[in-house]
Order: sequence, then C-alpha cells, then structure tokens
Amino acid sequence: MLYPHDSHPTRHHSAVRVAAPRTTQAEKERNTLLEVAIMSDLASIWQSRAREAYEHAGPALVAGLQAELSARIQALTGRKVDPKAIYAEPGSRKATATMDGVTFRLNKNELVLVRPCSYCGTGEFESIAIEDLRTLGYALHEWHPNHKDCEESDPAEYLYNYDF
Ligand SMILES: [Zn+2]
Repeated sequence: MLYPHDSHPTRHHSAVRVAAPRTTQAEKERNTLLEVAIMSDLASIWQSRAREAYEHAGPALVAGLQAELSARIQALTGRKVDPKAIYAEPGSRKATATMDGVTFRLNKNELVLVRPCSYCGTGEFESIAIEDLRTLGYALHEWHPNHKDCEESDPAEYLYNYDF
C-alpha cells in the first residue's frame, strides 16, 4: 500500500553537499591583477577617445580662432587680416595677429593688444579688453606697459590718469 508521501523521493537527503570551491590566495591575486588590467584598459580607452576627439577638433578650433580674431579686427578697424596668417593655439584658445605694427590677441574670447615693455623693449604685456574704438584708442596711445624693474616714473600715472 502506497501513501502519498512515499512517492516523494527521499534518497536525495543523503546526497553529500558539495562545498563551494575555495578561492586560493594565488587565485585572488590573479583576479586582482586581472581587474587592474581591465580597469587600466578602460582608463586608456576613454582617455584615447578624448585625445582623438581633441585632435579631430584641433583644426576646426584653429580655424574658428583665426576667423574670430580676423572678424574682431575688421569690425574695429575696417581692415582685414588674412585668417590663415593668424597664429592660433587651440590648447590655450589664443590667437595672435599683427597688423600695421600693432599686435592683437584673442585670449579666451577677449580681444587685447600685446606690447613689449615700453622701457626695455622686451617681454609681452596684454592690454585691457578692447571692446570698442575708445578702448582701442586708450590701448594704442595711452597704455605704456613696464616691467616692475623698468619703471621710469610712477606707474600710477599710467593706471589712473585716464578716465573713460
Ligand atoms: Zn622692461
């Protein structure tokens, strides 16, 4: 005579439970090395993607800086500088052009004049932002940058004597 519960197989209760495989120290170290290798692969992937994007953007950035500086100079002076003759550094977002002996620079979207020290003739100084003919006039005619050690007279005269 069969009882319903007899139909359940019972011999599985006697099955030996298999212990989960233990990870040895050597395996752990190998896994860690593998993870590090994967992580550094991932790091180099996004970094090289970024570099590629930058390198592809380079020529476009240079052309953009050249066109922008040329347009700004033309808007101010009515004179056109050939964009291709403009030196541009896409990394620092600077572009520099010399026209009629005056050096203009676009520095992170701000137009300035560049002059050497008016005393010793060396170095490179950037003027205030040139926004219109008035500020251009100031930078051209009234701005006399000096090295600190080259000061001939009170620099306050240059800094504070001119009101707009
Ligand atoms: Zn000087």
